[in-house]
Amino acid sequence: MPEPFALADLPALDGDVFGDDANLAAAARDWGHIVQARPRVVIRPATAADVAAVVGFAAKRGIPVAARGSGHSPFGQSQAAGGIVLDMTGLRTVHASTGNNVVVDAGARWQQVLGATLPRGLTPPVLTDYLELTVGGTLAVGGVGGATQHHGMQTDTVIELDVVTGTGELTRCSADENAELFDAVRAGLGQCGIITRATIRLQPAKQRARRWKLYYDSLEDFLADQRTAVTDRRFDYLEGQLVLDDETGEWRYLLEATTYFSLPDQPDEHELLGDLSFTRETAETEDSTYLEFLDRMAEGEAVLREEGSWFHPHPWLNVFVSDDEVDTVVAETLAGTTGADLGDSGLVMLYPVRHEVLTTPLTRVPSGDVVWLFALLRTGNPYDPAGVARMIRLNADLYERVTPSGGTVYPVNALPMTEQDWKDHFGNAWEALESAKKTYDPAGVLTGGQGVFGGGA
Ligand SMILES: Cc1cc2nc3c(=O)[nH]c(=O)nc-3n(C[C@H](O)[C@H](O)[C@H](O)COP(=O)(O)OP(=O)(O)OC[C@H]3O[C@@H](n4cnc5c(N)ncnc54)[C@H](O)[C@@H]3O)c2cc1C
Repeated sequence: MPEPFALADLPALDGDVFGDDANLAAAARDWGHIVQARPRVVIRPATAADVAAVVGFAAKRGIPVAARGSGHSPFGQSQAAGGIVLDMTGLRTVHASTGNNVVVDAGARWQQVLGATLPRGLTPPVLTDYLELTVGGTLAVGGVGGATQHHGMQTDTVIELDVVTGTGELTRCSADENAELFDAVRAGLGQCGIITRATIRLQPAKQRARRWKLYYDSLEDFLADQRTAVTDRRFDYLEGQLVLDDETGEWRYLLEATTYFSLPDQPDEHELLGDLSFTRETAETEDSTYLEFLDRMAEGEAVLREEGSWFHPHPWLNVFVSDDEVDTVVAETLAGTTGADLGDSGLVMLYPVRHEVLTTPLTRVPSGDVVWLFALLRTGNPYDPAGVARMIRLNADLYERVTPSGGTVYPVNALPMTEQDWKDHFGNAWEALESAKKTYDPAGVLTGGQGVFGGGA
């Protein structure tokens, strides 16, 4: 724990400083409800200059600092024991959107970004399944979704960033200007800087979405059709789920595909679905507006909030598996996974992404033209800490199963990782990250909750 410091020593700020129990307790929690680290103070910056002043202050004294977006991390990634949590929602303006770009403060939620761009007929190319995450929070990890197969991660769609480095300096970076910092911050887990503003590329948005839920009884057929769809790029959005039937204990495989369109045009169903081998009788089709489709988690969230499990522990694991390994890894994992291993509202996701569109240097995936995001999104029982600990061990087992053959994590997990694990994860990008850390955060105060350079949960 760092030496306690007096709030009166903090620099003068335009934003708010909170030292009360309720705010400290809230910043000591996250959506995972597994790890709790209480900060000394929560600061809600009103300007990027506030962020710079706070980080500069912390760097001089060796005080840990973490940015917190919407706090949807599962394992303490946005916590700072005894230090400073910057509540980035204080910086949430979506600035004038002109041309094919939008300039947005890092604490804005993706929902807000869409609110500004859709009236102009434009959309960010890639959106996460959940729109209440902040721009800074997802750019710090990557930002993957059903459009990643076409456009990469959200970090691949960023044009320019304003960043406060670990020395408290506010700097602009892009592929052409301060490229080392740009590459260290995108998917950089907050290790080298805090993003205060992002310029994001936009593309024309269609008005409507047709979503198909296509069920398979065989993993092999499901994987084959996913491969076909990702390779010929026939859908705008492609994801998938593996669904356990509680009664029979059998798994079913759900390919989720969506095509966007604007009336009077209509998707050609025969062309899109004709050669796929899903079970015809159980297929489902839904039409909605583009925004309703993107915001489809809102309804589920309301249900989970109502029943309470939204607030339960979430020992989640997301890994990337190679195309060579996916059949075996998934078959083995499902054979060993019961309903109790996932919890009541648990979910398993599996979908392919084309490797060539993943250009952010710190996004680490296995080799091969196609890689698969495999996610075990478990919900723990808040009254059964041993059960939650067991789920975290299951995460570690799968991590140990996939990494020797080149598998990687998508870093939003409840998974204890050592510095050596991170070194292995970043592979040949580690040297650049380590060097950027020394340059941009020499005091090592930023985002210790990720555990990349030691520490962590
Ligand atoms: C219901 C749900 C659905 C999800 N769906 C998806 C999905 O479809 N695709 C996907 O990719 N992920 C998804 N995630 C994971 C999510 O994207 C990550 O956990 C993300 O980091 C959370 O964003 P946040 O704004 O809550 O950030 P936080 O949890 O607050 O922070 C995450 C990390 O980023 C750092 N950080 C936050 N803001 C900044 C900043 N401005 N500058 C630098 N570092 C910063 C924090 O310090 C922390 O280390 C989902 C999570 C949940 C709970």
